[in-house]
Amino acid sequence: MPDFPASPRLLRVALALPLPRLFDYLAPDSGPEPHPGSRVRVPFGPRERVGVIASLVDSTQADAPALKPAFAIIDETPLFAGELLTSLRWLARYTHAPLGEVFAAALPGPLRHGEPLPDTHAWAWQLTPAGHAAVDRLRAGRPRELASRLQTGAVDEDRLDAGTSATDSPDAAVADTTLADWRAAARSLAKRGLAERIAVPASQAAPTPQPGPTLNPEQQAAVDTVLAHRHGFAPVLLDGVTGSGKTEVYLHAIGDCLARGRQALVLVPEIGLTPQLLSRFRARLGVPVHALHSGLSDGERARTWAACLRGEARVVVGTRSAVFLPLPDAGIIIIDEEHDGSFKQLDGIRYHARDFALVRAKALDVPIVLGSATPSLESLRNAQAGRYAHLRLGRRAGHAQPPQVRVLDVRKRPLLAGLSPELLEAVGQALAADGQVLVFKNRRGYAPVLLCHDCGWSAQCRHCSTPAQGTPMTVHAGGRRLQCHHCGARRPTPNACPDCGGLALQSQGAGTERIEEALRERFPDVPVLRIDRGTTRRRDALEQHLRDFGDTRGILVGTQMLAKGHDLPNLTLVAVVGIDEGLFSADFRAPEKLAQLLIQVAGRAGRADKPGLVLLQTHHPEHPLLSTLLSGGYGAFAQLELEQRGAAVFPPFAHLAMLRAEARQVEPADAFLLAARRAIEQADRLHDDRSSALEISGPLPAPMPRRAGYQRSQLLLSGIHRQRLHTTLDTALPAIHALPEARKVRWSLDVDPIDL
Ligand code: ADP
Ligand code: ZN
Ligand code: ZN
Repeated sequence: MPDFPASPRLLRVALALPLPRLFDYLAPDSGPEPHPGSRVRVPFGPRERVGVIASLVDSTQADAPALKPAFAIIDETPLFAGELLTSLRWLARYTHAPLGEVFAAALPGPLRHGEPLPDTHAWAWQLTPAGHAAVDRLRAGRPRELASRLQTGAVDEDRLDAGTSATDSPDAAVADTTLADWRAAARSLAKRGLAERIAVPASQAAPTPQPGPTLNPEQQAAVDTVLAHRHGFAPVLLDGVTGSGKTEVYLHAIGDCLARGRQALVLVPEIGLTPQLLSRFRARLGVPVHALHSGLSDGERARTWAACLRGEARVVVGTRSAVFLPLPDAGIIIIDEEHDGSFKQLDGIRYHARDFALVRAKALDVPIVLGSATPSLESLRNAQAGRYAHLRLGRRAGHAQPPQVRVLDVRKRPLLAGLSPELLEAVGQALAADGQVLVFKNRRGYAPVLLCHDCGWSAQCRHCSTPAQGTPMTVHAGGRRLQCHHCGARRPTPNACPDCGGLALQSQGAGTERIEEALRERFPDVPVLRIDRGTTRRRDALEQHLRDFGDTRGILVGTQMLAKGHDLPNLTLVAVVGIDEGLFSADFRAPEKLAQLLIQVAGRAGRADKPGLVLLQTHHPEHPLLSTLLSGGYGAFAQLELEQRGAAVFPPFAHLAMLRAEARQVEPADAFLLAARRAIEQADRLHDDRSSALEISGPLPAPMPRRAGYQRSQLLLSGIHRQRLHTTLDTALPAIHALPEARKVRWSLDVDPIDL
C-alpha cells in the first residue's frame, strides 16, 4: 500500500468522455493549489488526459488508496470560476450531458488540450535611444521610413500591418505602400540596435468613436428602457422590422455599458458576422472590438478567450460559441436575430446560445436584449407572459420603402426548373431596368412531402390530421412510400392525385443548380451567381463572391445563406420558390421558419431608394399563412401560429426532448429506442400526477432517415411541465446508458430540439 497523507484531498475531475460520471484522483503534491474550474492533467488508461476539477472532496468520501495521483494542476487561477462555473454546471444538468464534455465545449481547442492561457498582449515597435539619435543619419529606404514613423512613439504591429495610422478601419486595404514590407525594415533596425519590439496592452489601439445618427423616438424609447434596467437582470425583446435601427439601439446600450466600465457580449448568427458589422461597431464604440467566429484559427480563439477572462476585451461580437466566453465585468448581453436557427448547436453539447445567454445574464445580473424583425414564438410567448419587456420599432429608419409583395399561383403552369413563366417575365423586366434579381429557393434538405402540381393537394395522415391542422406524410423509400412523422402510419405513394386525378404528383422542387442552369439559358447576357453551401463554404468566400458580383444587373440564385448579411442596394426583385415544402412540412416549426424567411428575404428588396418587388410562387395562394403574413405582417402571423401551437400542445406550450439513434441497419437503432422508451415510461410512472405524463412518439424514421451510410431513427418526448421532463430523464438516463442495445448504436439526447 502506498504512503499517503492522513486525509488527502481528492480531486473530482470532469473528463471530456461520453460517460455520465466524474473521476477521482489524488491531488498532486506540488504545483498550483487545486481549485474547482482549474484544468488538471491526469492518467487515464494508457494515456494522459486534460480534465477540469469539478470539486474537491476529502478522502473519507472515496476509496482513496486505490486512486492514482493526478499528474499536475495546470492553472494557477481557475479558467472557470464564479458565474461561468455555475452556469456551465447548469448547462450540463439541462442538456443531461457529461460535465466534462460541457467544459470542453466551452473552451477553444488549445485550452481544451491543456495549453497555457495565451499571451494577450499586442506587440508594438519603438525606437531605442540609439535609434532616436540615428534617424536623421539613416540612408533613404524602408528602414529609415519606418524609423521616422516610430519617431513619435511606439506603433502597434496591427497598425503597421494595416498601413494606416489615423484610422483604425479593419477593411482599410489602403496599405501605405512605403511601409509594405515593414517587418524586414524592423528586423534591419533591430539588428543594428535602433528599434525594439515591445509588448503593449491590447486595448491601446482604440480609434476615436464616430457619432451615429440621432435616434428617432422609438429608438430612444428602446434605449431608455434598456438603460432603466441596466442594474440587474432584465430580458428585453426588441421587436423591430428590418432596417428599423435595432443595431443603433444596441450601440447606444453598449456605449453606456462601456462608460460604466463593463464588458458587452453581442451574439450574431453565423452569416450575420460580416466585416461591415464589425467595422460599424469598431468605428462607433471607440474601443477595440473582438470578433469570435468559425473563421478564426484556434490560437486566435484562445487569445480572445484569454482577453475576456482577463477583462481586457471590452466588447466581443461572436457567433454561437461566444456564449461561453468568460465575462468577469459583464454589463450587457445582446442577441441579434434571436430567432435564428444557427444559435442552436446540432451535435455534441446541443445547447441553444440564446437560451444559455439568458441563463448567464440572469446569473450575471445584467440586462439582455433579444433583437429580431421576426421573433421566435418562444420569445414572443415570454414577452406576452410578461417575462420580457417587449419593445417595438415599427418603421424603417432610413428612407427605404417596404417592398411590394405579390403571390404567384403556379398550379398547372408550365414550369422551367420550377420557375413559372410569370416569374421569368418579371426577372426579365427587372433586368431590363438595370436591377438585380434574387431567385431564392427555400430548402429544408428533409424528406419531402408529396404535392400535386395541378391542384395543390398534399398527402396528409388520416389518423393525425384534424380539420384545423393537417399532418403531412413525408416521402420515403425512394418515393414509393408515405409515412406519417407523428404516428408512424404508412401507405404506398398513390399514382394519381386523389383530389383531381392528375398525374402531376411531385415530391420535390428543383435544386439551385437546375435553377441556375435554366436562368443562364434564358438570360445568357447577364451574370448569374449561385450561392449555396456547395459554392460557398466560408463566410469570406460569400463576401468575395458578392463583391465580385458588384452592383450591376445580374441574377443571384441561392438558399438560406442569402437571406441576410451583405447589403444589396440594387436588388429590385426577389422571387421566392419552394414555399410549398415549408407550408406542408412535417416539422411543426416549418411555418414559423418559413414566415421568418419570407420576411427576411423580402427585407432585402428595396433597401436603398429603389422600390422593391417580392414574388412568392406557390400552389397555395390562399394558404392562411401567406394571407395573414401579407395582410397583417409577422405579428399577426405569429399570433395565429401561437394559438395553433397552444391548441396542438406544441412548444412553447410543451417541452420537448429527442432521443436519436443511428446504426448501419435500422433494426438495432429501433431496438435501442424501444428499450429506451420503456425505461422512460417506467421513470415517468414514478410521478404521482398522471395528467402531466410525458407523451412519447416513436421510434420513427428521422426526417433525413439515411445519412452517410447510417439509418437514423428518433424518439420524441413531450411534456407540459419542463421540470417533469427533466426529472424523468434524470431517472431514466442511467438505465439507458446501461442498456445492452446502447452498445450497438450511436445515440444522443437533444433537449429542446429545433429540427424534428
Ligand atoms: P437594423 O439593425 O434594425 O436592421 P440598422 O441599425 O442597421 O437597422 O439601421 C438600418 C439603417 O438605418 C442603417 O443604415 C442605419 O445607419 C440607419 N439608421 C438607423 N437609425 C437611424 C436614425 N435614427 N436616423 C437615420 N438613420 C438611421
Ligand atoms: Zn390534384
Ligand atoms: Zn399520423
